[in-house]
Amino acid sequence: MQNIITLDILSAVSENGFSLDELVLATKTLFEQEGMAGVIGLILRLVDEKLCMDLVSGKGSLCSCGSRRYAYLDQRPRRFRTSAGTVRISWRRLECTGCGATTIPLRDFLGIEPYQSKTAELEKVVAEVVSEQSYRRSSSHLEIIGQIPVPKSTAHRWIAASDCDGMQERTDTFDVLFADGTGYKRRPDEAAHINNRGELRIALGVDKCGQIVPLGAFSGVSWDRIASAVHGTRKEDQPVADLLVSDGEQGLCDALGRLCGVRQRCHWHTVHDLNHVLWQDDAGKKERVGLQKELAAMIGIELPQDDIERIQEADKEALLTAKNHADHELGRFIQTLLNKGYQIAADYLIRARRHLFSYVDRWLATGIVSPRVSSFIERMMRELARRLKRMAFGWSEEGAAKMARIIIKRFTSVNQWETYWKNRLRLNGNVMLIIGTIRKAVPPTLGR
Ligand SMILES: [Zn+2]
Repeated sequence: MQNIITLDILSAVSENGFSLDELVLATKTLFEQEGMAGVIGLILRLVDEKLCMDLVSGKGSLCSCGSRRYAYLDQRPRRFRTSAGTVRISWRRLECTGCGATTIPLRDFLGIEPYQSKTAELEKVVAEVVSEQSYRRSSSHLEIIGQIPVPKSTAHRWIAASDCDGMQERTDTFDVLFADGTGYKRRPDEAAHINNRGELRIALGVDKCGQIVPLGAFSGVSWDRIASAVHGTRKEDQPVADLLVSDGEQGLCDALGRLCGVRQRCHWHTVHDLNHVLWQDDAGKKERVGLQKELAAMIGIELPQDDIERIQEADKEALLTAKNHADHELGRFIQTLLNKGYQIAADYLIRARRHLFSYVDRWLATGIVSPRVSSFIERMMRELARRLKRMAFGWSEEGAAKMARIIIKRFTSVNQWETYWKNRLRLNGNVMLIIGTIRKAVPPTLGR
């Protein structure tokens, strides 16, 4: 279907001079506020006319009743918010003369939902702007960049209804499963005894190719339920990952550790929880603090920050020695506890000991993951916390989790994000627009 569209522009400029800047800005405003949406509306009207003409003259497709005859019924004005401004068209309705069924040819042709009021490309712009800053700031930001004033409440509703935060389903066993939680201010609900302290929980995988795979973001969801979501459709006994890395809580380790081959025990928690088991053993406050300090100093081993390719054999040797030394010291520490009769604390450390140095072993064996990925993940968690904090108003649980999913999806996998939108927008090269000529119109009096 081809048409030539003529655009008449009245240009009135001062003869006493004007700035190039003013001309540029006035031209931009004209196209952004009226020009683009106007052209889109006109093209749609031309398409609609052709579609309806074909159906009314019996050249279109058959109705399900077998009739080929349609008659014009009515038309209703419709508005669509788009990133090129508000597009105004009318839905022309036709009626089958055989069975009376009605159809809106243009809507079917464009594949638009009955109550759709915006384009998907605008939803993409809004999702991207909003996941970078607060709703309040972003809705004014959208107004400033022109064309699309989208109020905060509307943007919120769109995001809530969008499925752009969907996560890819994976069934392979990852190299590493990473999980962490971060606090944010959620919307309190006194009646339901919900305070404003929410916790957002994130799960990411690192696959065998070193790719980071976002697995989910949750709020108000237990680690057990997160574990089953992360395990997904894998076979019952298939691990999600070889190694679980977390600096999170016991609940996290218990729920997700079962899904992983090896778990890395969080050092901070190991030291922190020693206080409680020593207390159960009746150790005094002062002694508990002293033993905690001793343990912390013993188990902390710094991993090299470089990639393993650049690490010398001697460095690896040194790391292995440091690990063995730490493990040996820990053995002696446990023996000391036993000698003092602190049985609960000793048992606790005997259990923890198995998982305390997994990250060192693993790093020595593969040289991958720990330093590089954990610094990436730390950066991402910091970024997430920063953005969630900036989003000024209190979030609902699902709203915050949804926004976090959009953020981690964009942060970890720009490709996955763009692919989703490419499919959603159906950009298949079916529309081509070319400017033929731009020239001065011939005044009617001088024409033939
Ligand atoms: Zn019919």
